[in-house]
Amino acid sequence: MKREIRLIIGLWMMSGFATAQSSFLFQNKDVKAGTKEYFSIPIIDGQDSTAIPVTVFNGIEDGETLGITAGVHGYEYAPILGAQKLIHAINPEELKGVIILVQLAGLESFLGRSPYISPVDGKNLNRSFPGKINGTITERVANFISEHIISRADYFLDMHSGDAPEDLMKYSAYYSNSDMPEVSAKGKEMALSLGFDHVVQFNTDGKNYVEEDKSSLYCTAEAFKRGIPSIDIECGRMGIVEQDAVEKIAGSVLSLLDYLGFLLLDNERAVSDTPILISQRIYSSSNFNGMFYPAKKAGDYVIKGMKLGHVTDYFGAILQTVYAEEDGLLLMIIATPPINKGEDIAVIAKVD
Ligand SMILES: [Zn+2]
Repeated sequence: MKREIRLIIGLWMMSGFATAQSSFLFQNKDVKAGTKEYFSIPIIDGQDSTAIPVTVFNGIEDGETLGITAGVHGYEYAPILGAQKLIHAINPEELKGVIILVQLAGLESFLGRSPYISPVDGKNLNRSFPGKINGTITERVANFISEHIISRADYFLDMHSGDAPEDLMKYSAYYSNSDMPEVSAKGKEMALSLGFDHVVQFNTDGKNYVEEDKSSLYCTAEAFKRGIPSIDIECGRMGIVEQDAVEKIAGSVLSLLDYLGFLLLDNERAVSDTPILISQRIYSSSNFNGMFYPAKKAGDYVIKGMKLGHVTDYFGAILQTVYAEEDGLLLMIIATPPINKGEDIAVIAKVD
């Protein structure tokens, strides 16, 4: 009898040691099991400086690590505010594993109300990965995220919306490559678990950044290149604060956590009964600098040959009429007047 009790206690302790989470060391600080810690990571290049606000959640059970970035584009408010909600929505006492949440990767773009680029060095953070340790501020931010967050992640999520001029349909997306079938399939399942009605495949076949010899440029592409299942959220538009988009983002991340097994308590999953999968996108661009007048809005279903809008010069003369090149859903359309030669005006998603 005594021996049995000892055995049971021994087994219980072993199982306890096997699952209890230890501290998570981040930036020389121990994040204790069942707690969260806030970090403001300084990024300095000699003449300029910024900081990256990061929350690290360490669960009570041992598990995997999820990296999440918001505000890679600092004018995209829905993901930034969604990430604010997650600070309180994620309870480390009911968590398995670790979540590293970048609250605002592009702090200078945010404070400077600057779409796409940082006002400090004029660079687009989401074209700067994997970054440079001795580069400009934006390149150093990319380097920090690559080397201290992506490098530690088993899964990765980057959250965006339509930037200042972009009217955008809500969707999730996953990175895919036929040479990486398992990582791609896991990414697809993750993207589906977010519960969006539309799921876009970012196919990287033939893109040589996957084979190491070219920069990844995109935050999520850097994670995918390292063999990490990687997904994006695109939700919100035009620098507008829309509560439904903010709530959608926070809810979809909780669904993802549930799917990945990070939540110890049941969470209601956001589900889409019939998600539409999109593997092909058609881009239309402007041939001129000038003013754009959209004739459609994001989410519209368009037929090949339909007018999407037109570009005029500064005296009102029409320079270009833009027509749909295929049937499909309008994933994005520029909704404000300025347009530059070569810029994307519209993206049509061909529905599979
Ligand atoms: Zn973005």
